[in-house]
Amino acid sequence: MRKVFITRKIPEAGIKLLKKNGYKIVISPHNRVLKKVELIKYLKSNKYDGLLCLLTDKIDGDVINAAGKQLKIIANYAVGFDNIDLKAAKERGIMVTNTPGVLTETVAEHTFSLLLAIAHRISEADRFTRAGKYKGWEPMLLLGSDVAEKILGIVGLGRIGITVAKHAVKGFGMKALYYDVKRNSQFEKEFGAKYVNFNQLLKNSDFVTIHVPLLPSTKHLIGAKQFKMMKKSAYLINTSRGAVIDERALVKALKNKSLKGAAIDVFEFEPKVVPALKKLDNIIITPHIASGTEETRSKMSELAASNLIAGLEGKKPPNLVVPR
Ligand code: NAD
Repeated sequence: MRKVFITRKIPEAGIKLLKKNGYKIVISPHNRVLKKVELIKYLKSNKYDGLLCLLTDKIDGDVINAAGKQLKIIANYAVGFDNIDLKAAKERGIMVTNTPGVLTETVAEHTFSLLLAIAHRISEADRFTRAGKYKGWEPMLLLGSDVAEKILGIVGLGRIGITVAKHAVKGFGMKALYYDVKRNSQFEKEFGAKYVNFNQLLKNSDFVTIHVPLLPSTKHLIGAKQFKMMKKSAYLINTSRGAVIDERALVKALKNKSLKGAAIDVFEFEPKVVPALKKLDNIIITPHIASGTEETRSKMSELAASNLIAGLEGKKPPNLVVPR
C-alpha cells in the first residue's frame, strides 16, 4: 500500500480521494507548521511514496534527502512553489506539482476586495466607527478615492492578473496597463489594455497590483527606487508573495506619504508582520488568506491529491512543475 505524508490538516476532499484510491495517509498530528527537524524525522522514520505539503513548509535539500529513494512526488498545496528546492527535487528524480487555476477567481476576488477597501478606506472607517468616533455625517469625513476610470497597472499578467483585469476593466470601468516578461496581444484586444515597460507602469498607474511568482528576478521588484517613480496618489496591492516588495521601503513610502496606500495579503518575513506596518493607517493587511474560501481550499485539496495519485500511478500529473 502506497503511503502519503500530509504536513498539516487540509480539507477533507483530497484526503477522501486518496483513501478511496487505497492510499495510507499519515497527517501530522500537530496543527501547526512543522519544524525542519520534525519534518525530517517524520520523513526519515517512515518511508513515504508521496508528500503533500503547504507553502509554509520549507522543502529544501535536507528534507528531500531525508525522505530517501522511496519518495516519488511532492504535491504542493499552493500555486506558488518558492518554498521547494526544485533543483534538489529534480536531481533526485522527484516530481513536484502545484495547484494552479482552482484558486484564480478567489485570489482575484480578494485582490479586488483589497483594492476597493483601501481606496474607500473601509478598514480605517470600520476602526473609526467601532471606536465611537462617529458623531454624525460630515462633508470631509474619511474621504477616499474613486476606482472607476482610474488606471490599473498589472505586474505579472498570468491567470490571476488577467482575472483581476476582468473585474477592473469590465466591472469597474478601469483602464489597464500591464507589464510581464511576455506580451499578450489577445488580452490587449479584449481589454483595451496597453503593454508598457515596468517603469512606465509605475509612473502612470493609480493602482499597481502584483501577480508575479517569487523568483530571484522578482525579489524586491518594488523597492525605494520604484516607490519614488510611483504617483503620490497611487496605491499598491500585493497578493503574490511578500518578498516581491522591499517591506522596509514600503513602510518608509507609506510613512512619508510618497505612496497613498497599500493593501497586502503577503509579507516579506512571513509569518512575521513587522510592527511598523501594523502602526500605519494607510495600509490594509490580511494574513495570507487570498485563496481562503471553503470552496477553493477544498478544490486545492482535491487537486493536490489528484496530482499525487497520477504521479504515483505512473501517469503525468495535471500540474507538473518538475517532471521525473
Ligand atoms: P501565473 O504563472 O499564471 O502568472 C504569473 C505571471 O508572472 C506570468 O504571466 C509570468 O510570465 C509573469 N512573470 C514571471 N516572472 C516575471 C517577471 N520577472 N516580470 C514580470 N512578469 C513575470 O501565476 P498565477 O496563478 O497568476 O499566480 C501568481 C502568483 O500569485 C503565484 O506565483 C503565487 O506566488 C501567488 N499566489 C498567492 C496567493 C495568496 O494566497 N496570496 C494565492 C495564489 C497565488
